[in-house]
Amino acid sequence: MTTVKALIEMATAQFQAAGIPSARWDAELLVAHGLHETRLALYARPDSGVNEKDETALKELVLRRARREPLQHLIGAWEFWGRSFKVNSDVLIPRPETEFLIESALAFRGLLKEQEAPTAVDIGTGSGCLAITLAKEIPEARIYASDLSSEALSMAEENAKMHGVSDRIRFLKGDLYEPIKQQGLAGRVNLLVSNPPYIPGAVLMELEPEVRDHEPRIALDGGLDGLLFYRRLLAEAQTVLAPEGMMILELGQGQTADVIPLAVRSGLTVHHILRDYAGIPRVLTLVSSAQAHRSNV
Ligand code: GLN
Repeated sequence: MTTVKALIEMATAQFQAAGIPSARWDAELLVAHGLHETRLALYARPDSGVNEKDETALKELVLRRARREPLQHLIGAWEFWGRSFKVNSDVLIPRPETEFLIESALAFRGLLKEQEAPTAVDIGTGSGCLAITLAKEIPEARIYASDLSSEALSMAEENAKMHGVSDRIRFLKGDLYEPIKQQGLAGRVNLLVSNPPYIPGAVLMELEPEVRDHEPRIALDGGLDGLLFYRRLLAEAQTVLAPEGMMILELGQGQTADVIPLAVRSGLTVHHILRDYAGIPRVLTLVSSAQAHRSNV
Protein backbone atom coordinates (compact mmCIF):
# COMPACT_ATOMS: atom_id res chain seq x y z
CA MET A 1 0.00 0.00 0.00
CA THR A 2 1.34 3.41 -0.90
CA THR A 3 1.82 6.06 1.78
CA VAL A 4 0.88 9.74 1.99
CA LYS A 5 4.54 10.67 1.79
CA ALA A 6 5.18 8.53 -1.29
CA LEU A 7 2.17 10.05 -3.05
CA ILE A 8 3.33 13.59 -2.31
CA GLU A 9 6.81 12.77 -3.57
CA MET A 10 5.48 11.16 -6.73
CA ALA A 11 3.27 14.19 -7.43
CA THR A 12 6.10 16.65 -6.70
CA ALA A 13 8.41 14.87 -9.14
CA GLN A 14 5.75 14.88 -11.88
CA PHE A 15 4.98 18.56 -11.32
CA GLN A 16 8.68 19.49 -11.40
CA ALA A 17 9.07 17.61 -14.67
CA ALA A 18 6.08 19.55 -16.02
CA GLY A 19 7.75 22.87 -15.18
CA ILE A 20 5.35 23.86 -12.40
CA PRO A 21 7.23 26.33 -10.16
CA SER A 22 5.37 25.54 -6.92
CA ALA A 23 5.60 21.76 -7.39
CA ARG A 24 5.83 20.64 -3.75
CA TRP A 25 3.17 23.07 -2.55
CA ASP A 26 0.76 21.97 -5.29
CA ALA A 27 1.47 18.31 -4.52
CA GLU A 28 0.70 18.77 -0.83
CA LEU A 29 -2.51 20.70 -1.49
CA LEU A 30 -3.73 18.26 -4.12
CA VAL A 31 -3.02 15.14 -2.03
CA ALA A 32 -4.73 16.80 0.95
CA HIS A 33 -7.74 17.57 -1.22
CA GLY A 34 -7.86 13.99 -2.59
CA LEU A 35 -7.75 12.54 0.92
CA HIS A 36 -10.26 15.07 2.34
CA GLU A 37 -7.70 16.33 4.82
CA THR A 38 -5.89 19.56 5.52
CA ARG A 39 -2.27 19.91 4.48
CA LEU A 40 -1.24 20.12 8.11
CA ALA A 41 -3.11 16.95 9.04
CA LEU A 42 -1.09 15.10 6.42
CA TYR A 43 2.14 16.31 8.00
CA ALA A 44 1.14 14.49 11.15
CA ARG A 45 0.84 11.13 9.39
CA PRO A 46 3.23 10.92 6.44
CA ASP A 47 3.59 7.14 6.74
CA SER A 48 -0.08 6.21 6.89
CA GLY A 49 -1.45 4.16 4.04
CA VAL A 50 -3.72 5.37 1.26
CA ASN A 51 -6.42 2.99 0.05
CA GLU A 52 -6.47 1.90 -3.57
CA LYS A 53 -9.57 3.88 -4.53
CA ASP A 54 -8.14 7.17 -3.22
CA GLU A 55 -4.79 6.41 -4.80
CA THR A 56 -6.31 5.84 -8.26
CA ALA A 57 -8.40 9.00 -8.03
CA LEU A 58 -5.41 11.02 -6.86
CA LYS A 59 -3.14 9.74 -9.62
CA GLU A 60 -5.70 10.96 -12.13
CA LEU A 61 -5.73 14.43 -10.51
CA VAL A 62 -1.93 14.51 -10.47
CA LEU A 63 -1.85 13.71 -14.17
CA ARG A 64 -4.30 16.54 -14.91
CA ARG A 65 -2.25 19.00 -12.86
CA ALA A 66 0.92 17.88 -14.65
CA ARG A 67 -0.87 18.79 -17.88
CA ARG A 68 -1.16 22.29 -16.39
CA GLU A 69 -4.82 22.33 -15.37
CA PRO A 70 -5.04 24.91 -12.58
CA LEU A 71 -4.81 23.48 -9.08
CA GLN A 72 -7.85 25.60 -8.19
CA HIS A 73 -9.99 23.86 -10.85
CA LEU A 74 -9.00 20.42 -9.57
CA ILE A 75 -9.82 21.43 -6.01
CA GLY A 76 -12.96 23.24 -7.23
CA ALA A 77 -12.61 26.15 -4.81
CA TRP A 78 -10.15 28.84 -3.76
CA GLU A 79 -9.80 31.26 -0.93
CA PHE A 80 -10.40 35.02 -1.13
CA TRP A 81 -10.39 37.38 1.88
CA GLY A 82 -10.50 34.37 4.20
CA ARG A 83 -13.52 32.72 2.57
CA SER A 84 -13.78 29.84 0.15
CA PHE A 85 -15.27 30.41 -3.32
CA LYS A 86 -16.25 27.75 -5.82
CA VAL A 87 -14.44 28.13 -9.12
CA ASN A 88 -14.48 26.49 -12.54
CA SER A 89 -13.37 27.42 -16.04
CA ASP A 90 -16.27 29.90 -16.41
CA VAL A 91 -14.81 32.34 -13.89
CA LEU A 92 -11.47 33.96 -13.14
CA ILE A 93 -9.77 32.31 -10.16
CA PRO A 94 -9.63 34.87 -7.32
CA ARG A 95 -6.12 36.36 -7.05
CA PRO A 96 -4.44 37.56 -3.85
CA GLU A 97 -3.74 41.01 -5.39
CA THR A 98 -7.48 41.54 -5.88
CA GLU A 99 -7.82 41.54 -2.08
CA PHE A 100 -6.23 45.01 -2.16
CA LEU A 101 -9.40 46.17 -3.87
CA ILE A 102 -11.41 45.02 -0.85
CA GLU A 103 -8.92 46.71 1.45
CA SER A 104 -9.45 50.00 -0.41
CA ALA A 105 -13.23 49.60 -0.37
CA LEU A 106 -13.35 48.92 3.36
CA ALA A 107 -11.55 52.20 4.00
CA PHE A 108 -14.82 53.88 2.91
CA ARG A 109 -17.09 51.87 5.12
CA GLY A 110 -17.72 54.86 7.38
CA LEU A 111 -18.67 57.07 4.45
CA LEU A 112 -20.98 54.42 3.07
CA LYS A 113 -22.75 54.01 6.39
CA GLU A 114 -23.69 57.70 6.31
CA GLN A 115 -25.76 57.10 3.16
CA GLU A 116 -29.44 56.33 3.50
CA ALA A 117 -29.27 53.26 1.28
CA PRO A 118 -25.60 52.72 0.44
CA THR A 119 -25.32 51.14 -2.97
CA ALA A 120 -22.30 49.21 -4.20
CA VAL A 121 -21.80 47.79 -7.66
CA ASP A 122 -19.36 45.17 -8.97
CA ILE A 123 -18.88 45.18 -12.74
CA GLY A 124 -17.78 41.86 -14.24
CA THR A 125 -18.33 39.90 -11.05
CA GLY A 126 -17.07 36.48 -12.27
CA SER A 127 -16.97 34.13 -9.26
CA GLY A 128 -18.66 36.88 -7.25
CA CYS A 129 -15.71 37.11 -4.84
CA LEU A 130 -15.73 40.94 -4.72
CA ALA A 131 -19.51 41.41 -4.47
CA ILE A 132 -19.89 38.65 -1.87
CA THR A 133 -16.97 39.87 0.24
CA LEU A 134 -18.45 43.39 0.20
CA ALA A 135 -21.83 41.98 1.21
CA LYS A 136 -20.24 40.14 4.14
CA GLU A 137 -18.01 43.02 5.25
CA ILE A 138 -20.45 45.92 4.73
CA PRO A 139 -23.81 44.57 5.93
CA GLU A 140 -25.65 47.87 5.39
CA ALA A 141 -24.81 48.00 1.66
CA ARG A 142 -27.14 46.99 -1.15
CA ILE A 143 -25.07 45.25 -3.76
CA TYR A 144 -25.54 44.84 -7.50
CA ALA A 145 -23.20 42.67 -9.54
CA SER A 146 -23.17 42.39 -13.31
CA ASP A 147 -21.53 40.06 -15.78
CA LEU A 148 -21.88 39.35 -19.47
CA SER A 149 -21.54 35.61 -18.90
CA SER A 150 -24.57 33.62 -17.68
CA GLU A 151 -22.26 30.80 -16.65
CA ALA A 152 -20.24 33.16 -14.46
CA LEU A 153 -23.44 34.53 -12.91
CA SER A 154 -24.60 31.00 -12.00
CA MET A 155 -21.30 30.40 -10.22
CA ALA A 156 -21.51 33.76 -8.46
CA GLU A 157 -25.07 33.00 -7.33
CA GLU A 158 -23.97 29.63 -6.00
CA ASN A 159 -21.18 31.31 -4.05
CA ALA A 160 -23.56 33.95 -2.69
CA LYS A 161 -25.89 31.19 -1.48
CA MET A 162 -23.01 29.34 0.12
CA HIS A 163 -22.08 32.49 2.05
CA GLY A 164 -25.67 33.33 2.99
CA VAL A 165 -25.87 36.67 1.12
CA SER A 166 -28.16 35.80 -1.81
CA ASP A 167 -30.82 38.20 -0.55
CA ARG A 168 -28.32 41.07 -0.35
CA ILE A 169 -26.93 40.91 -3.90
CA ARG A 170 -28.79 41.38 -7.19
CA PHE A 171 -26.96 39.55 -9.95
CA LEU A 172 -27.63 41.10 -13.34
CA LYS A 173 -26.71 39.87 -16.79
CA GLY A 174 -25.45 42.43 -19.26
CA ASP A 175 -22.70 44.60 -20.64
CA LEU A 176 -20.86 46.78 -18.07
CA TYR A 177 -23.24 49.49 -16.76
CA GLU A 178 -26.18 48.53 -18.98
CA PRO A 179 -28.06 46.37 -16.44
CA ILE A 180 -27.16 48.79 -13.63
CA LYS A 181 -28.79 51.68 -15.47
CA GLN A 182 -31.81 49.50 -16.22
CA GLN A 183 -32.28 49.16 -12.47
CA GLY A 184 -32.56 52.96 -12.26
CA LEU A 185 -29.22 53.27 -10.49
CA ALA A 186 -27.67 55.97 -12.71
CA GLY A 187 -26.28 58.70 -10.46
CA ARG A 188 -26.88 56.62 -7.32
CA VAL A 189 -23.90 54.33 -6.96
CA ASN A 190 -21.83 55.13 -3.88
CA LEU A 191 -19.16 52.50 -4.43
CA LEU A 192 -18.21 50.96 -7.73
CA VAL A 193 -15.62 48.20 -7.92
CA SER A 194 -14.28 46.32 -10.91
CA ASN A 195 -11.49 43.96 -11.84
CA PRO A 196 -11.98 44.20 -15.61
CA PRO A 197 -10.15 42.15 -18.24
CA TYR A 198 -6.86 43.99 -18.73
CA ILE A 199 -4.36 41.74 -20.49
CA PRO A 200 -3.26 43.19 -23.86
CA GLY A 201 -4.24 40.89 -26.74
CA ALA A 202 -0.65 40.10 -27.75
CA VAL A 203 0.34 39.13 -24.19
CA LEU A 204 -2.48 36.59 -23.82
CA MET A 205 -0.58 33.90 -25.68
CA GLU A 206 2.45 34.36 -23.42
CA LEU A 207 0.59 33.66 -20.19
CA GLU A 208 1.19 30.48 -18.19
CA PRO A 209 -0.73 27.53 -19.65
CA GLU A 210 -2.98 27.39 -16.57
CA VAL A 211 -4.27 30.88 -17.35
CA ARG A 212 -4.03 30.84 -21.14
CA ASP A 213 -5.72 27.48 -21.69
CA HIS A 214 -8.08 27.18 -18.73
CA GLU A 215 -9.27 30.57 -17.53
CA PRO A 216 -12.02 32.41 -19.42
CA ARG A 217 -10.63 34.70 -22.11
CA ILE A 218 -13.62 36.99 -21.60
CA ALA A 219 -12.26 37.73 -18.10
CA LEU A 220 -8.70 38.43 -19.29
CA ASP A 221 -8.72 40.01 -22.75
CA GLY A 222 -8.49 43.79 -22.48
CA GLY A 223 -8.29 44.37 -26.25
CA LEU A 224 -5.23 45.35 -28.28
CA ASP A 225 -3.64 47.58 -25.63
CA GLY A 226 -5.37 46.09 -22.57
CA LEU A 227 -7.18 49.36 -21.86
CA LEU A 228 -10.47 48.72 -23.65
CA PHE A 229 -12.53 48.27 -20.47
CA TYR A 230 -10.93 51.18 -18.61
CA ARG A 231 -11.89 53.44 -21.51
CA ARG A 232 -15.46 52.19 -21.45
CA LEU A 233 -15.83 52.10 -17.67
CA LEU A 234 -14.31 55.54 -17.12
CA ALA A 235 -16.12 57.32 -19.96
CA GLU A 236 -19.47 56.73 -18.27
CA ALA A 237 -18.41 56.55 -14.63
CA GLN A 238 -19.76 59.98 -13.70
CA THR A 239 -23.23 59.14 -14.99
CA VAL A 240 -23.42 56.05 -12.80
CA LEU A 241 -21.72 57.27 -9.62
CA ALA A 242 -23.50 59.34 -7.01
CA PRO A 243 -21.92 62.72 -6.20
CA GLU A 244 -18.66 61.95 -4.36
CA GLY A 245 -19.06 58.26 -5.18
CA MET A 246 -15.95 56.08 -5.12
CA MET A 247 -14.70 53.97 -7.99
CA ILE A 248 -12.08 51.32 -7.29
CA LEU A 249 -10.37 49.56 -10.18
CA GLU A 250 -7.81 46.80 -10.36
CA LEU A 251 -5.06 47.61 -12.87
CA GLY A 252 -2.70 45.47 -14.89
CA GLN A 253 1.04 45.90 -14.58
CA GLY A 254 2.26 49.27 -15.89
CA GLN A 255 -1.22 50.63 -16.68
CA THR A 256 -1.40 53.48 -14.13
CA ALA A 257 0.09 56.07 -16.50
CA ASP A 258 -2.53 55.27 -19.14
CA VAL A 259 -5.55 54.86 -16.89
CA ILE A 260 -5.14 57.99 -14.74
CA PRO A 261 -5.47 60.44 -17.70
CA LEU A 262 -8.60 58.57 -18.81
CA ALA A 263 -10.06 58.99 -15.33
CA VAL A 264 -9.15 62.66 -15.10
CA ARG A 265 -10.61 63.35 -18.53
CA SER A 266 -13.90 61.88 -17.27
CA GLY A 267 -13.91 64.31 -14.36
CA LEU A 268 -12.82 61.86 -11.66
CA THR A 269 -10.17 62.67 -9.07
CA VAL A 270 -7.44 60.24 -8.05
CA HIS A 271 -7.84 59.40 -4.37
CA HIS A 272 -5.11 56.83 -3.89
CA ILE A 273 -3.16 53.98 -5.43
CA LEU A 274 -2.31 50.74 -3.62
CA ARG A 275 0.65 48.58 -4.55
CA ASP A 276 0.38 44.79 -4.46
CA TYR A 277 2.76 42.27 -2.80
CA ALA A 278 5.13 42.61 -5.76
CA GLY A 279 5.22 46.41 -5.42
CA ILE A 280 3.16 46.89 -8.60
CA PRO A 281 0.61 49.74 -8.46
CA ARG A 282 -2.49 47.53 -8.54
CA VAL A 283 -5.57 49.29 -7.22
CA LEU A 284 -6.68 52.77 -8.23
CA THR A 285 -9.28 54.61 -6.16
CA LEU A 286 -11.11 57.52 -7.79
CA VAL A 287 -13.78 59.94 -6.58
CA SER A 288 -16.53 61.51 -8.64
CA SER A 289 -17.16 65.22 -8.33
CA ALA A 290 -19.48 66.62 -5.67
CA GLN A 291 -21.94 67.88 -8.28
CA ALA A 292 -24.12 65.34 -9.97
CA HIS A 293 -23.03 65.07 -13.59
CA ARG A 294 -26.12 63.96 -15.40
CA SER A 295 -25.72 65.47 -18.84
CA ASN A 296 -25.79 62.11 -20.57
CA VAL A 297 -27.96 60.04 -18.27
N1 GLN B 1 -4.51 39.17 -12.79
C1 GLN B 1 -4.87 38.33 -13.87
C2 GLN B 1 -3.63 37.71 -14.49
O1 GLN B 1 -2.60 38.32 -14.49
C3 GLN B 1 -5.67 39.07 -14.93
C4 GLN B 1 -6.96 39.54 -14.41
C5 GLN B 1 -7.64 40.50 -15.30
O2 GLN B 1 -7.44 40.60 -16.52
N2 GLN B 1 -8.47 41.26 -14.69
O3 GLN B 1 -3.67 36.61 -14.97
